[in-house]
Amino acid sequence: MTDKKFDLVVIGGGPAGYPAAIRAAQLGLSAACVDDWPVGDKGRAFGGTCLNVGCIPSKALLESTELYHRAHEEFARHGIGTGEVSIDVGAMQARKSGIVEQLTGGIEALFKANKVTGIKGRGRLLTGGRVEVTSAEGNQTLTAENVILATGSTPVELPFAKFDGKHIVDSAGALAFDAVPKRLGVIGAGVIGLELGSVWRRLGSAVVLLEALDEFLPMVDPQIAKEAARQFKQQRLDVRLGAKVSKADVVGDVVKVEYEQGGKTESLEFDRLIVCVGRRPLSQDLIDPELNVDVDARGFIDVDEQCRTAAAGVWAVGDVVRGPMLAHKGTEEGVMAAELIAGLSAQVNYGAIPSVIYTAPEVAWVGLTETEAKESGKPYKVGTFSFASNGRAKALEQASGLVKIIADEKFDEILGVHIVGPMAGELIAEAVLAIEFEASVEDLQRTVHAHPTLSEALHEAALAADGHALHAINK
Ligand code: NAD
Repeated sequence: MTDKKFDLVVIGGGPAGYPAAIRAAQLGLSAACVDDWPVGDKGRAFGGTCLNVGCIPSKALLESTELYHRAHEEFARHGIGTGEVSIDVGAMQARKSGIVEQLTGGIEALFKANKVTGIKGRGRLLTGGRVEVTSAEGNQTLTAENVILATGSTPVELPFAKFDGKHIVDSAGALAFDAVPKRLGVIGAGVIGLELGSVWRRLGSAVVLLEALDEFLPMVDPQIAKEAARQFKQQRLDVRLGAKVSKADVVGDVVKVEYEQGGKTESLEFDRLIVCVGRRPLSQDLIDPELNVDVDARGFIDVDEQCRTAAAGVWAVGDVVRGPMLAHKGTEEGVMAAELIAGLSAQVNYGAIPSVIYTAPEVAWVGLTETEAKESGKPYKVGTFSFASNGRAKALEQASGLVKIIADEKFDEILGVHIVGPMAGELIAEAVLAIEFEASVEDLQRTVHAHPTLSEALHEAALAADGHALHAINK
């Protein structure tokens, strides 16, 4: 048992935790980051869900499968002949693993360069600023003035559809299929269901998404969600709304699923079933009960706007606290906490956090939806512009979808921007900056946008908000 003293110990090395340790070190603090991610053959301890089994590997597969799909469906229109296009799932998965390995390895290099001490093991917060770390190699106790809890979240498991790692899997399992399932069931048409459903649909799976709610993507602006639903239907993603799954049994090599829809019990058979019905915070057995840290019934650690818990020197950031479970939200919270610990002033603008669904087309948004603008009771105006009238989108063969801007009628301030279309996840950055700077619609109108680019659709939507889009008939 050795004792090591640090200014800051971060428990959890995902996208909320590791940047906190790096930022603290940049500010001259001695920082350690503890993580017990199972280190496999090639896996590494740091990077969390995002790098190991989430954002990064899913984007790698989304890119591979989108290229495969486009080679099939679009190349001929460009005059490109390919012969027979085939997919080697093993090679696709190897590329994905290579990217994960490079990026997780990159964190270790960043730790080294910044003099952050990376410690592999399970961390538990004790009283008196002590952190107990247990690992197969032995246990140790660290002490620190400040501790940041950044332990993240894990997929929710349904009691009647337990993960077996083969037939019924979580999102990580669905990123590792070694062959294309013929019939793929997905419980939950949320962000993960749509992204992973798209991956395997493009490779030829017959995909059925069973969604308990009657409304498709309730967190998305209704006009945008409607357009996304239309395009997913064209791609033959079979989304069934109001379909609550109640049973899933593995019989031989088949998963038999029962769901209730419109008062009737329906059944379906699949070769593989992905369960993606949300994630829960990982806070069990993390904090000595004697500490004054509140954890709610669902497992979220209670924090203030600046991620402080009620216990002095104890902070919590990322998926384990309130707010959207998004890597970039966690990163900003981690950096904020590190800066506050170092004595700087810092904050996160929770009103300007972008969300992206990485389907094709992508769906991205920031700020208020039209439903929320309506509910606010304040007069607002809306400008929309379709990618069908955008030259670059046409050249890309991706001329569908739209940009929608919602702004305050009286003060002209941009309140929300919503995009369904090509590169929406990249385009939304301009809107985030606009909202961060409290820009007006006129600011966006007078900002010069390069031609021909997709970003012109944002410019045109801003013009449309005042009824003078240049490449649309204004009503
Ligand atoms: P989600 O909350 O987005 O969607 C889960 C869906 O499952 C809900 O719509 C819910 O109504 C449905 N559901 C629950 N029980 C059901 C049942 N018995 N039958 C049918 N439907 C049922 O959750 P997720 O897709 O699992 O994602 C988890 C978290 O990870 C989310 O917070 C998400 O934002 C985050 N995430 C984000 C990204 C991204 O930013 N691109 C990618 C992946 C995950």
